[in-house]
Amino acid sequence: MNEVRQPKKPMIYYYIIVLLVLLLFNVLAMPWISQRQIRQVDYSTFITMTENKEIGQVEIKNQDNQILFTDKDNTAVYKTGIVDDPDLTQRLYDSGAEFSGEIVEQMSPLLSFLISWVLPIAIFIGIGQYMSKKIMKKAGGANSMAFGMGKSNAKVYVKSSEGIKFSDVAGEDEAKDNLAEVVDYLHNPGKYKEVGASMPKGILLVGPPGTGKTMLAKAVAGESNVPFFSISGSEFVEMFVGMGAAKVRDLFKQAKEKAPCIVFIDEIDAIGKKRDGHMGGNDEREQTLNQLLTEMDGFEDNSGVIILAATNRPESLDPALTRPGRFDRRVPVELPDLKGREEILKVHAKKIKLSDDVDFGKIARMASGASGAELANIINEAALRAVRDNRKFTTQADLEESIEVVIAGYQKKNAILTDKEKRIVAYHEIGHALVAARQTNSAPVQKITIVPRTSGALGYTMQVEEGEHYLMSKEEISNKIATLTGGRAAEELVFGSITTGASNDIEQATRLSRAMITRYGMSEEFDMVAMETLSNQYLGGDTSLACSAETQTQIDRQVVALVKKQHQKAIQILQENRIKLDELARYLYEKETITGDEFMAILNA
Ligand code: ADP
Repeated sequence: MNEVRQPKKPMIYYYIIVLLVLLLFNVLAMPWISQRQIRQVDYSTFITMTENKEIGQVEIKNQDNQILFTDKDNTAVYKTGIVDDPDLTQRLYDSGAEFSGEIVEQMSPLLSFLISWVLPIAIFIGIGQYMSKKIMKKAGGANSMAFGMGKSNAKVYVKSSEGIKFSDVAGEDEAKDNLAEVVDYLHNPGKYKEVGASMPKGILLVGPPGTGKTMLAKAVAGESNVPFFSISGSEFVEMFVGMGAAKVRDLFKQAKEKAPCIVFIDEIDAIGKKRDGHMGGNDEREQTLNQLLTEMDGFEDNSGVIILAATNRPESLDPALTRPGRFDRRVPVELPDLKGREEILKVHAKKIKLSDDVDFGKIARMASGASGAELANIINEAALRAVRDNRKFTTQADLEESIEVVIAGYQKKNAILTDKEKRIVAYHEIGHALVAARQTNSAPVQKITIVPRTSGALGYTMQVEEGEHYLMSKEEISNKIATLTGGRAAEELVFGSITTGASNDIEQATRLSRAMITRYGMSEEFDMVAMETLSNQYLGGDTSLACSAETQTQIDRQVVALVKKQHQKAIQILQENRIKLDELARYLYEKETITGDEFMAILNA
């Protein structure tokens, strides 16, 4: 990689530091090392050793005023001061001592070289390595460029033979159709070149989390038998400015070498956010985005590198990124419909053992609004439940319970409600169900339970739509609001007092009625004017008001009026069915959990 240069200047500093360390070591440490073994003794010891003929070598250093000598085996070196002693030389001679000029420098030249030059360099390198490792760890390996790398972490995920196929991705037929063209192109590019058609360079998969975008990208690679590079947008955003851009270059370099191939960038909004021109923005992100734009322009239409990217926030992407010639195709990957949910359940159910009573259609209906990932989770939860109960097969009941776990959390085994509370909760839930059942357009009740859940719900009424709904009429929404107020209405009617149990109902009812007025154009006064805009369509759907403060006041008033009207309607329905209300609440109080069929049987009896 020629674009990432080694920083030159610091190297000179390294050399200087190495030299300084070596010099210091030789000046200060070496004499200490070599003199270490010299033992200071007094003159009488020296004389005694001479007389006992225990001296091996001797060196008289007149200028230092000292005598160095060794024992007979030359293992230890001694030192003593010079005393005026004229016979000394003769006596030493007689004792058989050897006169030498280099007692101290007797260390072997190789050893001395090793100690004075090689050892300090080794220590220096060791410290350097340790420090760099520590720094790398601290930066999460991010500043690898400082050490001359700057590689992208793009991995080759799917090897040509094994891999995810389109058949593993259930539902999402439109997305699959769309992507099948890419697969065909990668198999047979000649066909397209002949006509002069070129494949889109980039395809943007947009949709809520967990709908199978990553899976689809992998499936395209698996179906086309080409290498699959995958990197997440956030991996480009680094601590140092310029790192992300280097990674983008590296990724594309790798991809071009491996073409034809698929490059998948997950969560592309991490780098592809709109550049807003504010000072002090994220420079690193902008540089990375610019590099990505440049790279996408840089390669030929028919180079065989196809970029797939996924995001849940398409509205936040920079327009330069989504213009034709870059990510010019947008493939929506929406939440699965009823049929899609059933297929996804079946795909994942292949991995577990099932009993014969399982009805996927019913489970799919109960799990309305669930994403692919949630459905996969439901299947796994059910299998875990079977294991917990020491069963070899997963049953329908396991699956139904696991949906409830996903919706409302686990059953609270030892939450003890007082008798009064339990009665209130029973009336509350029957209130919802009764209002729902008495309004012709409401979906039938599937199950009512007053067993507390870990999510905090003390009970709930599960409604299941018979078929898939794409449109909701004004009446249907109104009825839904009435159903939501039904719980509180029953409490008022029977106990004459109200509790905190309705907070979630209140929230939902308010949101629905507000949406009717501000977004669906269902109020007479505002006609078809949008008072609210939806941002973050795939992530919870936040809204922002787009109207004057005066209008806001009017909207609030209308929201209140709408909910009030439906609340009154719910109270009226319950008043008319008071006997059934008491009967059903008593039944639920005793049983704690009743099915929709039991409910309807009592209601219609
Ligand atoms: P996304 O990238 O859209 O967030 P993924 O592709 O990572 O979602 O999906 C997460 C998991 O959910 C997958 O591993 C798979 O088990 C399951 N899943 C999601 N959608 C589908 C689908 N359409 N068919 C089968 N499984 C799915």
